[in-house]
Amino acid sequence: MSDQLTDKFGRDITYLRLSVTDRCDLRCTYCMAENMTFLPRKDLLSFEELDFLCDAFIARGVRKIRLTGGEPLVRKGLLPFIEKLSRHLKTDRLDEITLTTNATQLAKFADELVHTGVERINISLDSLDREVFARLSRRDALGQVLSGIEAGLKAGLKIKINTVALKNGNAKDIPDIMRWAHSLSMDMTLIEVMPMGEIAQDRFDQYIPLSEVRENLDDQFTLVDTPYRTGGPARYVQVNETGGRLGFITPLTNNFCAGCNRVRVTCTGQIYMCLGQDDRVDLRAAIRSKTPQEALYAALNKAMISKPEAHDFKIRKPGDAPAVARHMSVTGG
Ligand code: SAM
Ligand code: SF4
Repeated sequence: MSDQLTDKFGRDITYLRLSVTDRCDLRCTYCMAENMTFLPRKDLLSFEELDFLCDAFIARGVRKIRLTGGEPLVRKGLLPFIEKLSRHLKTDRLDEITLTTNATQLAKFADELVHTGVERINISLDSLDREVFARLSRRDALGQVLSGIEAGLKAGLKIKINTVALKNGNAKDIPDIMRWAHSLSMDMTLIEVMPMGEIAQDRFDQYIPLSEVRENLDDQFTLVDTPYRTGGPARYVQVNETGGRLGFITPLTNNFCAGCNRVRVTCTGQIYMCLGQDDRVDLRAAIRSKTPQEALYAALNKAMISKPEAHDFKIRKPGDAPAVARHMSVTGG
C-alpha cells in the first residue's frame, strides 16, 4: 500500500495548513467576535508535538506546509520551530514552508523568517485607509502592518496580499489596494467571505460576490484571464494597467473543490478535511497515546475517509446561520 494520503475521491493530499495558535492581536469583524474566549495553553500542541505531526504528514506525501492561526507570529517560539522544520527543505522531503500573517509582528521577524528558509508569505490586508482598517480589524494597527510589509519586502520575502471583499466594508477600497500592491510587485488575491462562526454582524451585510467586484474593476482596468496557478483555488487575471496579477477565490459563487489537495489541522491537533464541514479526527489523542506512531497513522487513514467531495457554503438571506459553528481563526485560514 502506498503511504500517500489520498481521499476516497482519489485526491492526493499534498498540502497541510497548520494552525499554531487560535490567538490574535486583531479582531477582524468577519473572522472573530470582539470578545473571544481563547483556548487554555495546555490544550495547544507543543512545538515538539507539532514537529512530530509535520514529520508524519511529510512521510505520507505532504510537500507544502502553511503555518497559520489565529496570528501565527504571536506564538512565542515560532521561529525556532520553523528553523527546525526547515530540515525537511534541506533534505528535499518538503517543497515549501510558508505563512499566512496579518503582518503586525512582521517587522520583528522578517529577517529571521528568511533565514529559516521561508521565501513566500501571504499577508492579509483589507484596507489602506486607517479608519476603515481600524473598523474592520477593531484595532488601529495599519501603520504597524505597513511597517511589517516594508520589512518583509526589504528582507526579500515574496509577498501576496489577501483581501476579503466586504460589501459594506472595503469594496470601494479594492482598486486602491490593488494599485498599491502591484506597484510594490506583490500579487493580490480577493476572497469571498465565508459563513464560519457566529460574529457580531450579519454575514448577509458583509457578502459581496466577486463577480460583482470584478465587474466594478472591469470598468476601470483591463483584466486578462491567465492560466497561471499557484496550486490553490485562486483563478488569476493579469491587469494591463498595473502589470500585476489579481487572483479570485470564490468559495461561494464558483466551487473549486474538485482539485482540493489540502487538509487543515488546528492548534489542538484536530484535523478538518474541509473548511465547510464539522467532521474532524483528533490527532492530539493519537499523538498523546501510548503508541503515537501507529495511532497517528491510523487516525490519518480515518480522516481521509471523511473528506467530503465539496463544501456547500451559501449566504442567501439576512439572518442565515453560519455553515459551520467554528470561526476561521480556529481552523486556520
Ligand atoms: N491572522 C492571519 C491572517 O489574518 O492572515 C492568519 C489567519 S486568518 C484566519 C487567515 C485568512 O482567513 C485571512 O486572509 C483572513 O482574511 C481569512 N478569513 C478569516 N475569516 C474569514 C471568513 N469568514 N471568510 C473568508 N476569509 C476569512
Ligand atoms: Fe486575526 Fe487573521 Fe482573524 Fe484577522 S483574519 S482576526 S488577523 S486571525
